[in-house]
Amino acid sequence: MAYDPDNIFAKILRGDIPCKKVYEDDHVLAFFDIAPKTPMHVLVIPKGAYVSHDDFSANATDAEIAALTRAAGKIARDLGLAESGYRLIANAGENGGQEVPHYHVHILGGAYVGPMVSRR
Ligand code: AMP
Repeated sequence: MAYDPDNIFAKILRGDIPCKKVYEDDHVLAFFDIAPKTPMHVLVIPKGAYVSHDDFSANATDAEIAALTRAAGKIARDLGLAESGYRLIANAGENGGQEVPHYHVHILGGAYVGPMVSRR
């Protein structure tokens, strides 16, 4: 799938729409999900234009990949989730239930996150 520069996370990265920022570095932005599924729900996104995990893992630089992985762990620690536990989710494509076509990792925690998968 080609990257759509008008997706909502691209607009957040450009500053066209606001977000509640949790973390930022040269390669990564993280912010609270607008419709949290758990008491703590953060989205970690690369600043680069990648659609999905398979796109990101194939085309991002090692520095970008390291930055996103390290940022997700740091955010989990900084928000106090490392002790109580949390879940990382990266939805991709139609079967993955991805709504926003800019690669993102959900960090879910603050309460039991629920069963790993539910299917419609
Ligand atoms: P996914 O289904 O994995 O693509 O997840 C997209 C997530 O983005 C959902 O959990 C939405 O609640 C969240 N979301 C959509 N728009 C915004 C926004 N403007 N700010 C923060 N989170 C958003």
